[in-house]
Amino acid sequence: MVTRTLATLVHLEDLSGDRQAGGNSVTVNVVPEQVKPAAAHEPVKRYDAIIIGAGISGMYQLYRLRQLGLTARVFETGDGVGGTWYWNRYPGARFDSESYSYGYSFSQDLLQEWDWSEHFAAQPETLRYLNFVADKFDLRRDIEFSSCVTAAAYDEAANCWEIETGDGRRARAQFLITAVGPLSIPTMPNYEGIETFRGKSFHTGKWPHEPVNFTGQRVAVIGTGATGVQVIQEVAKTAAHLTVFQRRPNYCAPLLNRPIDAETQRKIKASYPEIFERCRESHGCFIHKADPRKAAEVSPEEREAFYEKLYADPGFGIWMGNFRDILTDPLANETISEFMRKKIRERVKDQGIAEKLIPKDHGFGTRRVPLETRYYEVYNQPNVTLVDIRETPIQRIVPTAIMTSATEYELDIIIYATGFDAITGAFDRIDIRGVGGRTLNDKWADGPRTYLGIQIEGFPNLLTLVGPHNAATFCNIPRCIEQNVEWVTDLIRYMRDKSLKRVVPTQEAERVWTEHVYELASRMLFTKVDSWFMGINTNVPGKQKRTFLLYSGGAPAYREKCDEVAARGYEGFTLT
Ligand SMILES: Cc1cc2nc3c(=O)[nH]c(=O)nc-3n(C[C@H](O)[C@H](O)[C@H](O)COP(=O)(O)OP(=O)(O)OC[C@H]3O[C@@H](n4cnc5c(N)ncnc54)[C@H](O)[C@@H]3O)c2cc1C
Repeated sequence: MVTRTLATLVHLEDLSGDRQAGGNSVTVNVVPEQVKPAAAHEPVKRYDAIIIGAGISGMYQLYRLRQLGLTARVFETGDGVGGTWYWNRYPGARFDSESYSYGYSFSQDLLQEWDWSEHFAAQPETLRYLNFVADKFDLRRDIEFSSCVTAAAYDEAANCWEIETGDGRRARAQFLITAVGPLSIPTMPNYEGIETFRGKSFHTGKWPHEPVNFTGQRVAVIGTGATGVQVIQEVAKTAAHLTVFQRRPNYCAPLLNRPIDAETQRKIKASYPEIFERCRESHGCFIHKADPRKAAEVSPEEREAFYEKLYADPGFGIWMGNFRDILTDPLANETISEFMRKKIRERVKDQGIAEKLIPKDHGFGTRRVPLETRYYEVYNQPNVTLVDIRETPIQRIVPTAIMTSATEYELDIIIYATGFDAITGAFDRIDIRGVGGRTLNDKWADGPRTYLGIQIEGFPNLLTLVGPHNAATFCNIPRCIEQNVEWVTDLIRYMRDKSLKRVVPTQEAERVWTEHVYELASRMLFTKVDSWFMGINTNVPGKQKRTFLLYSGGAPAYREKCDEVAARGYEGFTLT
């Protein structure tokens, strides 16, 4: 029987978009007081594998395990498939990856049947796509929706995992595979009086299913990360007044989205093998490949022309396809940062506002780069105000307004674009217990320790898709998800073929991999900057210290290492 420490759990059900749509129910950090015991008496169901999460990872893992002939069951908090694209329904939500580089690549039929309508598809289209995938491969019959896994414990004697859901249902399986998502736990700021606001409040990562009308409304957006930027540029179109509360500006680059016409559609479909090959070869599995030159190897004029070209190209090219040293050499980074600062000053009319929008504490690309469509021009509109909350902090929220140290801003709607408890957040919210009852929270108290970002010493048969220290965390994610899932599937097949029942990494393999992750990261400029890349979230207790969450050696090197480990009979793992 699973032991539960409910005091530490945060349930996404308590963030129901419907409830938020109804008004002032900002319940992101609410801790449930009681277990709902409704299903506690139900018999424990048994499977070969349990998968937590029905996003892109969980759906694909289910498909692959079924092909192996395993019984697999997915447990998903939401009431539909799609993960990120199920939850993030806020206006403006869309890809930063080129649509045709993001979709699954495993099925030729699927690739040919699905038409992406835009180079960077909006959320509704991606959610439609993932539902199309679920239908095509008949995935739903093995998914239990509205089922938040709250606890998972390894039973040593039986060599199996037992999970428990929020309503007390239990299930057992030899393998437990987490597909819980790198950005699936929305976080709220801890402002005094937040629950007293009488207007409507929304978190972008828990947006209601019904549209929200901003016409004639006084709207606040708190947060200017990738999501904040997307939502701000949409809300500014119709709100009577939009007040943006910015703690920290980011360097934003043009998305340059456009529709895909019939001829381009035909070309995309004919060239999928080349598109995916290009992704495979690039550091982050995007179609953009880093330029092999260093920034200082060209003249200032040539460099400027190159930056202009990247700025005029769609997508992440300016981040991923730039000189190879802009994310490692401060001088190289300064050249592109200065270029980006110049662009902001050109696009924003009021130079006082432009200065507020220019990051002062980090260089370009060392935090997640938001992609934008006329974002900077929003601040030229008369209906938009920018409030720098480092100058005038938010002091509290009252029933009708946000109060800063300087002013009171009367509001009808507050949008929290305050991000996620990234990468480890979804793990922290499940009471995971391995050998001897040791909790994963305890094991990771000083930061994650993993082998290949896929397994953890002391937690046999637990496999973590898109986990910390896995290349998928810094990737055009579905490309890395496919690698993760296929590698895990091969491991399970290998074990079955050799009648092996238990896999767990050695302490030494875990130590070496964790140190390797740290060593790689130490070369990167992003380790000198506070961001979710470094495990920082000022709204989450205990997440104020920098830790290395990402594998920064690049997807090709990661894939090579995983393949090598497998080829050597799963070196570094103890298989029994
Ligand atoms: C707004 C936004 C835009 C993005 N755009 C891009 C992009 O352009 N390109 C890119 O590569 N990546 C992007 N990402 C990252 C995105 O998260 C990944 O691309 C991808 O969707 C991850 O898929 P996943 O299946 O691993 O996780 P998710 O899609 O997050 O799915 C995880 C699922 O697990 C469920 N879950 C979590 N915990 C539990 C639990 N305890 N019990 C039951 N269920 C649980 C969640 O409800 C969720 O449905 C974006 C993220 C966001 C938030």
